[in-house]
Amino acid sequence: CGIVGCIGIEKPQKYLIEGLKELEYRGYDSAGIAIIDNKEIKVIKAVGKLKNLERKLDQVKFENPKLGIGHTRWATHGKPTEINAHPHTGQFSAVVHNGIIENYQEIKKFLEEKNINFVSQTDTEVIVKLFEYFCNGDPFEAFKKTIEKIDGAYAILLITKKEPDKIFFAKKGSPLIVAKNSKGIYFASSDAPLIGYAKQAHYLEDGEYGYVTENEIHIFQKNLMISPEFKDLPTDKE
Ligand code: GLU
Repeated sequence: CGIVGCIGIEKPQKYLIEGLKELEYRGYDSAGIAIIDNKEIKVIKAVGKLKNLERKLDQVKFENPKLGIGHTRWATHGKPTEINAHPHTGQFSAVVHNGIIENYQEIKKFLEEKNINFVSQTDTEVIVKLFEYFCNGDPFEAFKKTIEKIDGAYAILLITKKEPDKIFFAKKGSPLIVAKNSKGIYFASSDAPLIGYAKQAHYLEDGEYGYVTENEIHIFQKNLMISPEFKDLPTDKE
């Protein structure tokens, strides 16, 4: 039900947790974050309140965390369990998703026939598994192929060890916002987490996708690069 992400700042886990707290009022049944640290993806998830996630996060040692993604889940497919909580992972990538992948059963069947295993009951897991199936060369090409194949509503953030200095994103039908300050780049599914971190943001339109590095935002629509349209963020959290 909520998404956050960030790259380029020290202690990404701080923005992720604070951001998820700002999205708490929207309701959720579980939460999780994934952080790339020393080329490893560290995933922490918990059912129930964010406090549970924070407690687990406190046990995790980070060396040089570079970027991360976070999620509060409002289950649509699969019970609210820790396994079904996001981020969902494959061999080398992790994804968070808001919305519903309508054709997930078809994709799941296709991948299972290729001996790719699923661990959750969610629609979301097909995104990361399909991405990895396509990921033989350029991860961005694999990401594009993945979003071409999925139907439904989504705001997606995906990270991969194959490119540990980028966050891939896509938006259709569920809100997603990207903002930049002098230190790094931030994502959120609504304004609130971004307030205090950035002054302006680009509100992604349906069909937009791309990737960010720690200081650049690359947005595409139907294979054409588009420039972000920055709008002022509110200054108060009302
Ligand atoms: N459909 C996904 C799930 O059930 C995402 C739900 C959400 O938007 O939080 O896991």
